[in-house]
Amino acid sequence: MSTKRALQSEIRQYRNAERLLVLGARVPIVMEMTQLSSWFLRKLSLEIRGEAPRKGQVPNSDQWYLRRQNNLEASLFCALYESLKKYAEAGTDECALLVGAYSQVRADFGAAGAAVGMSIDRAWWLVKSLQIKNLRRARCRVCQGRYLQAWSRLERNFLCWECRQQGYTVAGGRAPRRVRRGAAS
Ligand SMILES: [Zn+2]
Repeated sequence: MSTKRALQSEIRQYRNAERLLVLGARVPIVMEMTQLSSWFLRKLSLEIRGEAPRKGQVPNSDQWYLRRQNNLEASLFCALYESLKKYAEAGTDECALLVGAYSQVRADFGAAGAAVGMSIDRAWWLVKSLQIKNLRRARCRVCQGRYLQAWSRLERNFLCWECRQQGYTVAGGRAPRRVRRGAAS
């Protein structure tokens, strides 16, 4: 690698680290994405956020994404991530996609007056879970929206919560009117 390219790559790593830390990412995750040292990242985190970086385990479970509200956020994140990836310039790194999609989810929820429950750490784990095929995006057969689903629970006639609430059933068609709203979910 030429000196200039090496320098550009190094600058990009620092920028990525800064973006991730501003969004509240844990140090081990920033380390993995930037190859910068733990010591340096802890110092940078302290400088950026004015507090010591958070401790504790990084996310490693897929169950969180399958709860209703979390699933909506996570599914929106996936859609934005895929869209960014599709139109990204050649050479765009995964960190830029993660930060870009996550920032957009926060902006969308913020515009609607809601806070996002999904942390940047969970967004990071979500990308991994999709890559290793723990989770997949299933298309609802009624509204055609795509929602996260465990890979092991693949359903041919997948129905999202909203459509179940409307009375649609997995077997096909719509449930009789006597089915109370919510009773079908
Ligand atoms: Zn639906």
